[in-house]
Order: sequence, then C-alpha cells, then structure tokens
Amino acid sequence: MFEGLFNKSSELKDSLPEVRGKYLENVKLSKHTWFGVGGPAEILYLPEDEDDLRLFLLKKPESIPVTIIGGGSNLLVRDGGIMGVVIKLDNPNFKKIRLEDGVLKVGAGVNNSDLKKFMLENSVGGMEFITSVPGKIGGLLRTNAGCFGGNVSQVLVSAKIMNDWGEIHEVEKDDFNFSYRSSTFPENWIILEASFKCVTKERKEIEELFNEHKKYRETHQPINKRTAGSTFKNPDGLSAWKLIEDAGCKGLKVGGAEVSQMHSNFLINNGNATAEDIEKLGEMIIQKVFEKTSITLEWEVRRMGVKR
Ligand SMILES: Cc1cc2nc3c(=O)[nH]c(=O)nc-3n(C[C@H](O)[C@H](O)[C@H](O)COP(=O)(O)OP(=O)(O)OC[C@H]3O[C@@H](n4cnc5c(N)ncnc54)[C@H](O)[C@@H]3O)c2cc1C
Repeated sequence: MFEGLFNKSSELKDSLPEVRGKYLENVKLSKHTWFGVGGPAEILYLPEDEDDLRLFLLKKPESIPVTIIGGGSNLLVRDGGIMGVVIKLDNPNFKKIRLEDGVLKVGAGVNNSDLKKFMLENSVGGMEFITSVPGKIGGLLRTNAGCFGGNVSQVLVSAKIMNDWGEIHEVEKDDFNFSYRSSTFPENWIILEASFKCVTKERKEIEELFNEHKKYRETHQPINKRTAGSTFKNPDGLSAWKLIEDAGCKGLKVGGAEVSQMHSNFLINNGNATAEDIEKLGEMIIQKVFEKTSITLEWEVRRMGVKR
C-alpha cells in the first residue's frame, strides 16, 4: 500500500485549491517515465495554463511538496512513488511554438517531434541537435541536455520561469550558470518557455541533419528499449561507458534491470524491472568502477521519490 502524506490521496486533494486544470489521484508514474518503473504520484496536477498554475502555487498549503516532471526520459522514480503533488505541463497551452524577431520561443511542454515538425515547416535551423534528445523543452533546459558536440546552453537566449510564489520572470541564459548537464537553476522554479537562437535554413539541410542524428542514435544507443539515456556523467576527460565496460559491467543484471549490450552507460528495464533493481544495478556499477579505478561515477539520471 502506498503511504503518502495523507491516508488517502482524496484527503490530499481536498486540501488543495480549486483549479481549472485537472487533479488525478494515485497515478502510476511508470506510465509517465521512459524506464517504465516507479510508484504512483499521490496527485498528478495538469494545469490548464500559466494563470491556473500561478493560483495553485499561491494557494496550496506550504507543507505540500511539489515535483515537476517533463517527458520522464531522465527520471528514475522509486517504487514507493512521489509524495505530494506532481506537476506535468501537458495542456496545449504549454505546447506553443512561435518565431519572434528571429528568436524561436518554445513552450516547456513541447516535445522533440513537434519541434522538429515546426522547424521543417518554417525552415528554422541552427539547433537541430537538441531535437534528437527525447523529452520536453522544460526537462531539456533543466538538465542542460547535450549531444553531437553541443548543449542546450549554447543555443538558449533566455527562459520564462515561474517561481514558487507564482511570479513569472524572463531569465537570461547567463543567470543559469550552466555547466555539464547542470545549472544553478533553483529546484523549485518551473520553466514555462525557452527562447532559442536560430537561423533560416533550407528544409532539405535541416532534414538531412535530423536523419543523420537519428541514424547515429539507432546504431549506437538502445533507443527503442526502456531506458533513461546515459546513466552516469562522464568524469572529466573520460567516458563513463568505457570505465563501465573496463570494470566488466557490460551485460550485468539485477532482477529485470540490465546494462545495455549496445551502450554500457545505458541501463535497461527488460520488462519486469523495479526501480529498486535499476538503482541497485547503478550502485553496483559505481562500486565496481571505483574498485578498479578509484573514480566515483556520478548519476546523470535523476532519482526521485521514496523506496517501497
Ligand atoms: C534514449 C535516450 C537518449 C537520451 N539521450 C540524451 C542525450 O543525448 N543527451 C542528453 O543530455 N540527455 C539524453 N537523454 C536524457 C533525457 O532525454 C534528457 O535529460 C531530457 O532533456 C530530459 O527531458 P524530460 O522532459 O524527459 O525531463 P524529465 O526526465 O521529466 O525531467 C528531468 C529533470 O527536469 C526537471 N523538469 C522537467 N520539466 C521541467 C520544467 N518545466 N521546469 C523545471 N524543471 C523541469 C525535472 O524535475 C527533472 O529534474 C536521453 C534519454 C533517453 C531515454
């Protein structure tokens, strides 16, 4: 039985302010994460729009924790689930894309395939690489996602955020202090929209880059499996996958979790893994790599929630 903040999620719901969006009780987060594991959210709140979210943050009891998720492609939600309210910006109001004075403004709830479609239809390029990362724009910024030699901070101009008092601010790129897969962005701020530098390009040229990136991923990463991408950050000047492979971890298993044969920094849920299996496998890898190299790998996958 899930032990949340209240005996029943309906009691938590009763303590929350009235909203125009939706409150869903006891929602399985395994359906909202790429790994396909994890316990429930006591309440999943889907705000209707920015104003609905603002009033929720202003009026909710202070003691109730709030967690924001995007596409769940970088998350390991533990089997006991997440207490309090989980927010997902899934309403079309958070999925708008527009071009303004040569800057591309993308809602936090936009996913990579919608962004690709917009870029092709409007001949907008210069940031093709970020569309190959799974997930949504909010998660992309929060994790300073990167690939193919670039990262989000290189193409970001500014972001519209909401703080925990419901105030909206436009924050310049430099104020995020981006570094490798991280930033000093406060945990309790919610990204609403990102503004990106872009250039006008031939549709064909953009399409070619998209296809090149897709092909690379299909041949180098287990993108069709239940995974959350690179599990560990690359230590300075080194590759996590190589350290993992050299420590003899390729193919290592715990329950239904396995180190990918294709890319050893990817962990896979073979279908019946629990979050505990995946986390234990990760900890086992950290230990084995440390025993061999005295290097401690750092999780890139974000672990959240409570153990069962
Ligand atoms: C097959 C595969 C390949 C991948 N390849 C790459 C890669 O090449 N490069 C790379 O960097 N990553 C990669 N990843 C990891 C992942 O796709 C990225 O980290 C992605 O940007 C996460 O976005 P998301 O929307 O899924 O965020 P989530 O996983 O849902 O959340 C990630 C973090 O962002 C926060 N967050 C989400 N939305 C918001 C918001 N609106 N406001 C504030 N905080 C928010 C969450 O609280 C959490 O801390 C890969 C993952 C998979 C499954």
